[in-house]
Amino acid sequence: MIVRSLILWFMPIFVFSQSVTNTNPYNLPLTNTIEKYQNEVSINLDYALVDLAEVVPGIILDIRYATANNFTHDTIYELPKAYARRPVAEALASVQKELRRHGMGLKIYDAYRPYQATLKFWALVGDTQFVAAPWSGSRHNRGAAIDLTIVILKTGKDIDMPTGYDEFSEKASPKYMQLPESQIANREYLIKIMTKHGFSVFSSEWWHFDYKNWDKYSLIDLSFTQLMDYNKTSK
Ligand SMILES: [Zn+2]
Repeated sequence: MIVRSLILWFMPIFVFSQSVTNTNPYNLPLTNTIEKYQNEVSINLDYALVDLAEVVPGIILDIRYATANNFTHDTIYELPKAYARRPVAEALASVQKELRRHGMGLKIYDAYRPYQATLKFWALVGDTQFVAAPWSGSRHNRGAAIDLTIVILKTGKDIDMPTGYDEFSEKASPKYMQLPESQIANREYLIKIMTKHGFSVFSSEWWHFDYKNWDKYSLIDLSFTQLMDYNKTSK
């Protein structure tokens, strides 16, 4: 009896803490319930966030925000998943196909990012050159941006790039030229193949690419667990 009354006592607190976890301090129009998401997808199937592991054959995932190996030194995502809107995922599959003909493949650092993570990054960095402004949201929140690099399939090693992932310095700019020729060539190769398939590189990060018409996609704030459960039941 005591146990039951304790559960009843704690339950409203738990429900309350769930609702304050997902905040929207800038009152953005967020797709933050499964119902809203389902409605979007029913209007246009292109709005579906699809699992890159299912759509891009052989894709390598190194989802840093699902580990402590990222600039926050904290685990931000509950699962190492990479989702993107269907046309973005299909374009990545075309890039992958072309790379594999040359013995290479894509490695994804980050894809769709729930809006709550954008709020966390802003609280830590507070500089719009390197993290998205939370009052407008990130293109990652729209499922239309990807952070990636290229891997040599034979060795499993990344090609040599000017910086590591999420190095917030001027060397990360795709225009930075005080580098060995091979690093410039590798960066140019990545940018060229991504551009060919509808992506454009971000001006301060060689690893970040936005897909064309990114602004037609809404800002989403659903967790990977919510998306995984939804995709399972809608199959
Ligand atoms: Zn990015």
